[in-house]
Amino acid sequence: MVFTEIKERNKKKYYYRVKSIRKGEKVDKKRIYLGANLSKQELEKAEKEADKKILSDKISMKKTKTITFGIDKEKDFSEWFTQIIQKAELADMRYNVKGFLVFQPWSVLAMEKMYKFLEQKLQEKNHNPHWFPTLIPEKNFKIEGEHVKGFTPEVFWVTSGGNMKFEEKLALRPTSETAFYQMFSLWIRSWKDLPYKTYQRANVFRYETKATRPFLRSREFHWIETHCAHKTLKDAEAQVNEDMKTTEEVLGDVFLLPFIFFERPSWDKFPGAYRTFAADVLNPDGRLVQQPSTHILNQDFAEGFNVKFKDEDEKEKVAWITCYGPAISRIFASVIIVHGDGKGLKFPWKIAPKQVVIVPINLDKQLTEKAGELKKILEKNNISVTIDLDDEKRPGEKFYFWEMKGVPLRIELGKKELQNKELTIYRRDTDEKKKIKEKKLLKYAERTSQEYDKNLKKHADSLFKNKIQDIEKKEDLKAVIEEGKIARVNFCSIEKEGEKCAEIVEKEINAEVRGTLANKKEKPTGKCVICGKPAKEVVYVGRSY
Ligand SMILES: [Zn+2]
Repeated sequence: MVFTEIKERNKKKYYYRVKSIRKGEKVDKKRIYLGANLSKQELEKAEKEADKKILSDKISMKKTKTITFGIDKEKDFSEWFTQIIQKAELADMRYNVKGFLVFQPWSVLAMEKMYKFLEQKLQEKNHNPHWFPTLIPEKNFKIEGEHVKGFTPEVFWVTSGGNMKFEEKLALRPTSETAFYQMFSLWIRSWKDLPYKTYQRANVFRYETKATRPFLRSREFHWIETHCAHKTLKDAEAQVNEDMKTTEEVLGDVFLLPFIFFERPSWDKFPGAYRTFAADVLNPDGRLVQQPSTHILNQDFAEGFNVKFKDEDEKEKVAWITCYGPAISRIFASVIIVHGDGKGLKFPWKIAPKQVVIVPINLDKQLTEKAGELKKILEKNNISVTIDLDDEKRPGEKFYFWEMKGVPLRIELGKKELQNKELTIYRRDTDEKKKIKEKKLLKYAERTSQEYDKNLKKHADSLFKNKIQDIEKKEDLKAVIEEGKIARVNFCSIEKEGEKCAEIVEKEINAEVRGTLANKKEKPTGKCVICGKPAKEVVYVGRSY
């Protein structure tokens, strides 16, 4: 506390000049009279009294506005993203290796749930879990030419163990194709073993040279990679479609993210892929974030690693390999970016780190016991709950804190509620408070969780609305991209011969050709927006991270 001494006539009068107190919370600049001619002891006592007064709920309720998160996501996205990561305690960037960060409980709890939904879905679709070593010998890397070219600049190498320098460098896996497929060659024998479907959850390491951004691009991230071997190209294509469906079922239906799957142009394929399909999510700043991608690999891969099988006709054949990589920590970024607002985070119900917070208005025995009782009832029904027992924060402060953290439902529990056997419930999606009968809590939570997700989904889906615009002239392309939109244009080709035009898009418009729609073949009706040659494709152009 800061107090000032003001001399008036011959009396010494003391005032508090309240500036900012307690954990960054601001209270209006205001003076509180403490008394005149006070001794040191009296002054201390008066100071304590004033403390109490300021912190009492009466004053606090008026002031709580100043402790809201309060950054406009649409207007100032970059600031919003940086601040929410700190304030909601998602990641601590102070770890002392550049490009690496510490994931904190609030993000890990959500990401654990995200893993669970994806892994469950993959296992339902007959992918078997594996845990592969983190280290990959250099020679494995060199087997497929495109792959080594694409990944070498990003590899962290382990060159010694203790005092022993290794004869062969070992890579910290940037992705695990070259680890899985040498084992595939040992495990797969006959057509009866196919399709051979695996996955692992793992952390991977990439020496990113572009600026790193927490969750979106860091040098270590957490993901799932699936690797499958198939008899025919047709089977591989079916697998890629299944992967896109999985993305829809989990990222779309559970994480409530809107995205568009594109087939990437030939110059933007995964290193070593024959075809690449990737989901793009749109950020409020108009930039696209690549989320899961799924690939059919060149058969050089299977050939190089000797992934062959004896077919029904007794002939030895080379398998077709597919791989799919949903990056949990990166998807988490899209979850918070897409659903968050000026008050902070909003989590889809099923992956919220905690689904309900109970805030007893006073921390007396009766109320805290009741809170514990409610927690038990909810948890028995698979609803995750936390009780806020912090005795330093006022209720108003707690309300805003949990709204910022994105807890879907808040139960406010006061004496009155207890007497009337009622609960006051706040919903983060609609920002509304409502009183319900205590005995209806479970029913209410179950029903509301569904409405809640519907609301989030509806809001998220509106992100892409009016964001895609048909463009015919190069001059208009730039304007539309500057507005943060995606342009749909006629384009000469997504094979090698179109790459020159894509380079012009990159250099002059500072945007990228994201590809053609993966699920729908669109017919072009005019000329390439860049070179004017007859168009073979309809492509989408946007900015990305
Ligand atoms: Zn062209």
